[in-house]
Amino acid sequence: MKRCPVCKGTDITLMIGGITGKFQCRCGYQGPLVIEDEKGVYKKKGHH
Ligand SMILES: [Zn+2]
Repeated sequence: MKRCPVCKGTDITLMIGGITGKFQCRCGYQGPLVIEDEKGVYKKKGHH
């Protein structure tokens, strides 16, 4: 799952065009950077 680095939202759209794809978020963010959020594994801290 991809998350917006600005609003942490998951409503990310991949815009194809140009050399590389860009992501666009509903909050207005546009750019190549998104947070890859593995399902469930967001922050796993603590003893193992
Ligand atoms: Zn956003």
